Amino acid sequence: MFSIIEEKYAWRPGSTFTTHKPDTIVIHHALHPNCTAQDIHRWHLNNGWKGIAYHYYIRKNGLIYRGRQEHHQGGHLLGSENKNAIGICLEGVYTDYKNLTEKSVPEVQLAALVWLCNDIKTRWNIESIKRHADYPSAINEEKDCPGRYFPWNRFMAMISDPNAVYKHIIQKHCKFHNPDGVWKVVDTHPYADAFYMQWANSYKTPG
Ligand SMILES: [Zn+2]
Repeated sequence: MFSIIEEKYAWRPGSTFTTHKPDTIVIHHALHPNCTAQDIHRWHLNNGWKGIAYHYYIRKNGLIYRGRQEHHQGGHLLGSENKNAIGICLEGVYTDYKNLTEKSVPEVQLAALVWLCNDIKTRWNIESIKRHADYPSAINEEKDCPGRYFPWNRFMAMISDPNAVYKHIIQKHCKFHNPDGVWKVVDTHPYADAFYMQWANSYKTPG
């Protein structure tokens, strides 16, 4: 359903990357309504940085782009906060900002984020998933990244149930009167995971 798109970046000449062992995932929003991974790379170069500071960038259409390598420390937090933290940035403005406010995260973008977090967990021993806003540097700057309209509680529930992404898509189309009752039955099936995936994928435009 999702995959990681490999981008080619022209890093700042002479850049070296400190290696780390990720144990945390940090979620950001771009505070921009429409930009590519290369746009962000360019902006970060213009800041005087090595290049794109995030490890991943997810567009509103659910496409996932790699930024820095996972084992290379990012630059999405302040200084040593970056150690062992994988930074994922979502396209969009999910807080009150100028006239650009977006009050909902597209379902396919949220599903891509859940997929990516679970994918990262297969490679590293991830102990926690945090908001950028949880870090001291963000608190000092009064940043609410990834934004007050990012559905954090629902995201956390989806992370603990990978099929929640599919359940959401299915429910959107089937409009069951008692969806939890349906999931309860399906969950007992030995191939429930594959079943949910195929069922959800049978709808061509998830979200
Ligand atoms: Zn942020």
